[in-house]
Amino acid sequence: MEKNEKVTVDVLDIGQDGEGIGRISVGPDAGFTVFVKDTVPGDQAEVLLVKVKKRFAYGRLIRVIHPSSDRQEAACPMARQCGGCQLQAMKPEAQAAMKMKKVTDDLERIGGFEDAASLVRPIRVPEKLYRYRNKTIYPIAEGKDGRPTAGFFAGRTHSVIPCEDCLLAPEENKIIRHEVLGWMEDHHIRAFDERTGKGLVRHLMIRKGFATGEILVCLVINGHKIPAQDDLVQRLRQVPGMTGITYSSNTERTNVVLTGNTEVLWGRGYVTDILRPPLDGTEVMYHISPRSFYQVNHDMTERLYQEVLEDAGLTGQETVMDLYCGIGTISLFLARKAERVIGVEIVPEAVRDARQNAELNGIGNAEFFAGRAEEVVPRLYRERRIHADVVVVDPPRKGCDRTLLDTIIRMNPEKAVYVSCDPATLARDLRILADGGFQVKKVQPYENFFGTVHVETVCLLSQRKPDTTIEVDLDISELEVSSAETKATYEEIKSYVLEKFGLKVSNLYIAQVKRECGIVERINYNLPKTEGNRVPQCPEDKRKAIKDAFIHFQMI
Ligand code: SAH
Repeated sequence: MEKNEKVTVDVLDIGQDGEGIGRISVGPDAGFTVFVKDTVPGDQAEVLLVKVKKRFAYGRLIRVIHPSSDRQEAACPMARQCGGCQLQAMKPEAQAAMKMKKVTDDLERIGGFEDAASLVRPIRVPEKLYRYRNKTIYPIAEGKDGRPTAGFFAGRTHSVIPCEDCLLAPEENKIIRHEVLGWMEDHHIRAFDERTGKGLVRHLMIRKGFATGEILVCLVINGHKIPAQDDLVQRLRQVPGMTGITYSSNTERTNVVLTGNTEVLWGRGYVTDILRPPLDGTEVMYHISPRSFYQVNHDMTERLYQEVLEDAGLTGQETVMDLYCGIGTISLFLARKAERVIGVEIVPEAVRDARQNAELNGIGNAEFFAGRAEEVVPRLYRERRIHADVVVVDPPRKGCDRTLLDTIIRMNPEKAVYVSCDPATLARDLRILADGGFQVKKVQPYENFFGTVHVETVCLLSQRKPDTTIEVDLDISELEVSSAETKATYEEIKSYVLEKFGLKVSNLYIAQVKRECGIVERINYNLPKTEGNRVPQCPEDKRKAIKDAFIHFQMI
């Protein structure tokens, strides 16, 4: 078997990047594994081998011999070349099933959750399969004909595939793209060339507020000044919904699109949008700057936030941390239902947006900290003794930093809600949280990125009950500890014991040792409520650890 040989492949599975994984059907090499982009599980395909390794080969699809029942005609004519979408040739139901399987498999294999299948709920699917993205970034390049063009990178390369009308993006993008390219041509403005570092225009970014219809354009340039500025503004301000025309300088050799500040050429430097979770009855309005993160699928995000709110189950008494909070999107909904919300976010512009958004919506109980969650949260917890009852995390694809997860485990909140855009890092992090005492209650995937391999997931975790299996109805009031200060002391003792001895102790155990040491007088904690209930007694190692904490806190 050699390169450039033609083979017949039965496609059986799908890989991380949406490529088909199959086996050669017949002949001496039957059964040999071949990876073939643009095929769908169930296809039988004629394939040209482009790279042959010892145990597998890569092939290019020549033609589909027998199409899979999961196959559909890709809606976008550019689907095969463009690296943006990987699954356009797969029916929506098959895409959804594949993503659910990915979440389940990762939980099982990476997270070691044997009960993964029962944890994962049926994926929530959108009404709108196309034109759902509110943000598009087009790299600009010199086309084959020497004229500037805009499109998307082909898979795994940096060659730009021109794309006149991306079917995931709003219709207005087509006009904006056309006007920007026209302005470049008319004024002989060159596209940036990654290899030489020459040329001016690097990227065109367009953001639309789906609820408001507002549009913001940001041109990323390899320089500090926009030539023929008036003409650019003139062309773009005609576009219906245009509210801001901006640019940002990026003269660095980097793949990062936006590296610096944004300058406003016309209108405003942000776009406004509104989110209304369907059952919640409240709405929040947001200002979104070009560099700030904002979920791309507006309609699905409303449903997803609805779930986060339900999972958080707030009563108005809680302190909630929203980590990786972006412009405060989740934080501000939580703030309406909690006593206090603390948001942490690394991008300073996003934090500025978040603070303004709190003001814009008349929300006074949300504070935002700029910095790495893994640095800010341990500081807040250790130095300022801030404890969260509920923690929400929504990290980027690489997941949460270990230091942050350890701090969350120590902080011991009642509940944690993990919003993830990468099932593999989600599974890794859930394992750490589960080993630290949390129980994974449910995992809900969302089809927020139809046409692509990506999937969003919301996961609810709660504190596991104390180690003894006997359950007693016990709440803090029964322990005669109603004031916030005393409750904090319980939390402090718990964290101290966990940090120093690596042991998790319950309120019940602390109360038992307190009584033993004569700290609490009137107490009825160990009176069985009904016949037959037995109360677990604090084990010796934990008793010693709690006593040590009492000494540390000068309680005895
Ligand atoms: N919760 C927000 C944003 C989620 S996206 C929303 O739903 O809109 C992830 C966010 O994490 C981004 O805003 C990114 O800038 C931020 N981020 C990335 N690394 C971080 C870190 N180490 N600490 C805090 N925030 C981080």
